[in-house]
Amino acid sequence: MSTIEHWIGGRLTTGAATRTGDVFNPATGQRQHEVVLAAPADVDDAVAAAKAAFASWSQASLSARTKIMFSFRELVNAHVKELAELISDEHGKVLSDAAGEVQRGLEVVEFACGIPQLLKGEYSDQASTGVDVFSFREPLGVCVGITPFNFPAMVPMWMYPVAIACGNTFVLKPSERDPSAANFVADLWRRAGLPDGVFNVVHGDKVAVDALLDHPDVAAVSFVGSTPIARYIHQKASASGKRVQALGGAKNHAIVLPDADLEFAANHLAAAAFGSAGERCMAISAAVAVGGAGDALMDIVTRKAHEVVVGPGRDPRSEMGPVVTAAARDRIETLIGTGEQQGAKVLVDGRGLKVPGHENGFFVGPTVLDHVGTGMDVYTEEIFGPVLSVVRADSVEAAIDLVNANPYGNGTAIFTTSGEAARRFQRGVTVGMIGINVPVPVPMAYYSFGGWKDSLFGDKHIHGPEGVSFYTRGKVVTSRWPHVEAAHGASLHFPTSS
Ligand code: NAD
Repeated sequence: MSTIEHWIGGRLTTGAATRTGDVFNPATGQRQHEVVLAAPADVDDAVAAAKAAFASWSQASLSARTKIMFSFRELVNAHVKELAELISDEHGKVLSDAAGEVQRGLEVVEFACGIPQLLKGEYSDQASTGVDVFSFREPLGVCVGITPFNFPAMVPMWMYPVAIACGNTFVLKPSERDPSAANFVADLWRRAGLPDGVFNVVHGDKVAVDALLDHPDVAAVSFVGSTPIARYIHQKASASGKRVQALGGAKNHAIVLPDADLEFAANHLAAAAFGSAGERCMAISAAVAVGGAGDALMDIVTRKAHEVVVGPGRDPRSEMGPVVTAAARDRIETLIGTGEQQGAKVLVDGRGLKVPGHENGFFVGPTVLDHVGTGMDVYTEEIFGPVLSVVRADSVEAAIDLVNANPYGNGTAIFTTSGEAARRFQRGVTVGMIGINVPVPVPMAYYSFGGWKDSLFGDKHIHGPEGVSFYTRGKVVTSRWPHVEAAHGASLHFPTSS
């Protein structure tokens, strides 16, 4: 069993921490590593290293920064397999899914390689006689990322490539449940030529997070995780004057209209509900069957759920791995039981699943609950497991109302062959990311990712153009270079153009 250390100022260190956390392999149930949990002094060291590095990194030319971004891109691309294996061993997801998350993270790195274009300012020649006005953007300083367990590579990559390309330095506090990917990436940055201290990793829990939120030298905080913690991060970081974006949890609905291709819809519903064992913030956890779509849809979804091959993430035959911890498995199974007691019809029951050879793994099988009511716990809670709850609705309007009544607003999808219904849906829902016959509508890296309502606190979405805006602040320069002989006295009037 090895110890996972912090990465501060370009080297590994156990720091001042006296506490450690357990890192399990969810497929076997075995404790495989311990991770150091930072004390406030470790956070001080990481922020000091990042602050010192900011002095020169913020002055590095666009071309110097871009060269390192391209080298980093090549290194990540060359190591997708190793990263995917690390992720699978600590998170549990199957290798193809883990490689997919690295690929989606890599797209943000590629976006950030275009930083010279993205940071171009504006210029107004002769705004007034002899006066030009122009704008440009500057980095903020030390930026912090606090990230969840479910995408240990991709979610941090939503943040640090853009932050670093913009000239900031970065302290990442990854999830303590699957911390190894962060250290692997830190070493790739070193190999790419990033100066020491520009990218740091501090492992830990609430102690580390609170020390980062309170630290006077931290300029901005990006958070992704559950809604209660997102709300807390937003309030605490805002109170200490930091710029903050805090992405929270989700309850994503997919509406299926009777005119949809039901085989297509059911296939995609099953993939979106059970992929990564439902541990995706963009997973479909609620299906809304409209009108006559219900029974036929349920027949196909039930068949698909039974067909999913559940097994260890490292086995190429597995389509779905275990959930992250024993506690997560127990919580999911309890919620399924509560759903049954509260009147949902259990069409497929994933409780008590034992995978041969992996009897101690944290497995829950695909589960389908039909006739779920909006007052039931399985509907109101974010289950974050392979559980699809199916609600029935009479009309598109009723389905849209259902989506909008939900406190979350991360993603949603509609399955239909009607352009008119799809357009009504896309305009009517209070949700940030919408799929039309696309169940998991994660925006490409050159758009920004973010939900509405309880799925995001703050006003900037993550990566894409809003990411560049988040990690920089603007300056506008009004300049005049008068001929000495043309110079005349200043007026006390408010400046107007002439
Ligand atoms: P989490 O909120 O438990 O943890 C997220 C981070 O916050 C971790 O780094 C953790 O160490 C830290 N943390 C946990 N408790 C804390 C506390 N009391 N005080 C300060 N920091 C604390 O989330 P998780 O279980 O790791 O991840 C799953 C959640 O993340 C789900 O709710 C999922 O929907 C959400 N998520 C959202 C998005 C999105 O884009 N909106 C993306 C991925 C995951």
